[in-house]
Amino acid sequence: MSPSALLPDGVGIAHLPNQRHKIVSKRGAKFTLMVCGESGCGKSTYVNTLFTSGIKDPKKLHLRHTKQTEKTVEIEITKAELEEKNFKVKLTVIDTPGFGDYVNNRDSWMPIVEFLDDQHESFMGQEQQPTRAGIIDLRVHACLYFIRPNGHTLKPLDIEVMKQIGSRVNLIPVIAKADTLTPQDLAKFKRNVSRKGGERALLICLTHHPSITQILDVIHAQGIQIYSCPIESDDEEVTSTNQRIMDAMPFAVIGSTEDITIGDRTVKGRQYSWGVAEVENEDHCDFKKLRTLLIRSHMHDLISTTEETHYESYRQTQMETRKFGEQKPKKYENPKFKEKEEQLRLAFTEQVKKEENRFRQWEAQLVSERDRLNKDLEAQHAQIKAMEGELEQMYQMHHRGPMRR
Ligand code: GDP
Repeated sequence: MSPSALLPDGVGIAHLPNQRHKIVSKRGAKFTLMVCGESGCGKSTYVNTLFTSGIKDPKKLHLRHTKQTEKTVEIEITKAELEEKNFKVKLTVIDTPGFGDYVNNRDSWMPIVEFLDDQHESFMGQEQQPTRAGIIDLRVHACLYFIRPNGHTLKPLDIEVMKQIGSRVNLIPVIAKADTLTPQDLAKFKRNVSRKGGERALLICLTHHPSITQILDVIHAQGIQIYSCPIESDDEEVTSTNQRIMDAMPFAVIGSTEDITIGDRTVKGRQYSWGVAEVENEDHCDFKKLRTLLIRSHMHDLISTTEETHYESYRQTQMETRKFGEQKPKKYENPKFKEKEEQLRLAFTEQVKKEENRFRQWEAQLVSERDRLNKDLEAQHAQIKAMEGELEQMYQMHHRGPMRR
């Protein structure tokens, strides 16, 4: 069996019941994903690929706005509501363009770490209010850290940022642009094209690429905390899928929103003179495995570990170090930019609130539209019943007996 056959096709939030833990909430789940990494390593393309090929018919791609105008790390938010067989997931993707763009990048991770802490802080603050309705929760459930495919190892900046992020949220390392790995890999690509005839089926054993084991070695040696998902399940097939997903860590991905036709197939991929690097082909990259982990097999685990491990650890630390109601001290405050930063933070919070409201209004509209349709349906039902009754009466008058159905 080909490896791709092992992972079922489609995104299928409806498959959530197959998870080790089930999402039972009728109101659905909220899932927030952050992408982070040096500028130009394919984060935005990955997000767009996820929304165009990864997520079937997003109900609405709601907002995509940029917060800061100055040359600093920005935050971009994309939202979509997904629904399949009554399971609803509100997906929020946060992109952080601009990171690593400066001459001195040493502190460029600070706004990201502050953002992660702010979300825990904001949730904690709202939780302590007497009325907790309408809580705005942007706590990040998973952060994909994009590593440039330099074929060597992690840069000191990567190590520093990953350490910081991994101690706050579920960190998932990702090797960007898997199709650009070393000439040897490209050669391997080509060899396999000719071996498999004209099919252009490409093969790279990404999990065995030396740079990948190196990356994992560095992650372990540096004590970087990365997400590790539950593997064991009552169902053997699920256990083996989980194992395969985890074995692919760090995930190597190809991003592209371009449709390419290969014979009678149309795929998302990147066209080269020697063939096509396909986004969803498991022989080419781990895009599909990562997508499965995020929005099918381990979404609930990512949400619950955020709640039970990361948020709880933040809450406990704050409780131990601060008096009740006391403001959070700014760890990475640069006095020079303090005022500006505060303004930006407030503007951003306002912006998020506004967009949350817009999203809620849109939701309310959908609900009222559904109610109106239901009412119409009921009225039509009643009309049909009445007509049936009249028909029955007429029949009885003519035939002196009940109507045969
Ligand atoms: P970001 O700054 O991290 O958001 O990077 P972008 O998504 O804007 O991508 C930067 C450049 O890399 C663009 O020209 C993309 O077309 C290209 N790119 C993105 N993903 C891939 C990939 O998987 N493989 C290759 N070869 N190029 C990619």
